[in-house]
Amino acid sequence: MPAMQVCLFDIDGTLINTGRAGRAAFYATLEHEFQFPAPHHDVAFSGRTDRSIVRDLFHHHEIENTPENTSRFFTAYWKQLPLMLNGRGGVVLPGVEALLVQLAGRQDVAIGLLTGNTQIGAGMKLGHFGLMQYFSFGGYGDQHLDRNHVAAEALQAAGEFLGKNVEPTNVWVIGDTPLDIRCARAIGAHAVAVATGGHSLDELAQAKPDLLLADLDAAEEMLGRWS
Ligand SMILES: [Mg+2]
Repeated sequence: MPAMQVCLFDIDGTLINTGRAGRAAFYATLEHEFQFPAPHHDVAFSGRTDRSIVRDLFHHHEIENTPENTSRFFTAYWKQLPLMLNGRGGVVLPGVEALLVQLAGRQDVAIGLLTGNTQIGAGMKLGHFGLMQYFSFGGYGDQHLDRNHVAAEALQAAGEFLGKNVEPTNVWVIGDTPLDIRCARAIGAHAVAVATGGHSLDELAQAKPDLLLADLDAAEEMLGRWS
């Protein structure tokens, strides 16, 4: 019996490109719920947790970083996000659907999420593209400021889903930013970097992933390492 392999997928830039629907929903929330017009700042989004992005936006706009304001923000964000997803013409990235179908058909693979999105936001984004049914567990960005802590949550969720401890050496973190690679390291997992997001192959190579792919059409290379 081969060892169970656990694949933990990032969402934005890895599985889908939403045409920046998430970012647009963040800004619409600031505008409509907190009455701040279009932003002039350089808060980074890529690879980060939604909780940490909200903290930075609050800091920038001098909104008090309280649980009440955070809850108010996400409640409004979850109303904006489906509107933005509908309006932005996003796409499922190359190779993604074929890979998920292939992995879902195997008894020795478990598929989960490792994303900075909130759990509700992740469900909205993947549901929009008809991909949510492939994912049974995950780590999310609702509470954590640091992606490394999301990785720990995802690893624990994998263990709970499978009903046994998961060896990090059988875990594959698949993402499109250096932060995805870093959080794979934090839990002792393999890092698979894919250049379909905001980072080039060269930029990702500098972060030294275990496997570097142009897109998930090339994911056979990852599966080849399991046998
Ligand atoms: Mg990403």
